[in-house]
Amino acid sequence: MKGTEHLLKRGLRKSGMRISTLSMRGRVSADRPYAWMDQGLCRKFPPEVFFPEKGNPGREADLAKQICQSCPVINECLEYALGNRDWFGVWGGTTGTERQAIHRG
Ligand code: SF4
Repeated sequence: MKGTEHLLKRGLRKSGMRISTLSMRGRVSADRPYAWMDQGLCRKFPPEVFFPEKGNPGREADLAKQICQSCPVINECLEYALGNRDWFGVWGGTTGTERQAIHRG
């Protein structure tokens, strides 16, 4: 859950929701709009893999992108990141730079 909890907290901050809506396990307790995150393969990896140091993503971004390609919620994840205009870290198999390019069309 470690990796996904990090994603969830970032998403909640961006959406304006309060972090206190998280349960003790880091899940949204009400209607769980982010339930898809429970299926993310990134849960099995350290957050640093998906959030490599800014300006030095290098091979870590490549590893994260490879993991994403096998993830059952890659589409939900990419849609979420694009919808929240989150340009930091690997989401849905893309880097922030790649998502910005998608966003610009
Ligand atoms: S697509 Fe990648 S970043 Fe998104 S939930 Fe799956 S493994 Fe995590």
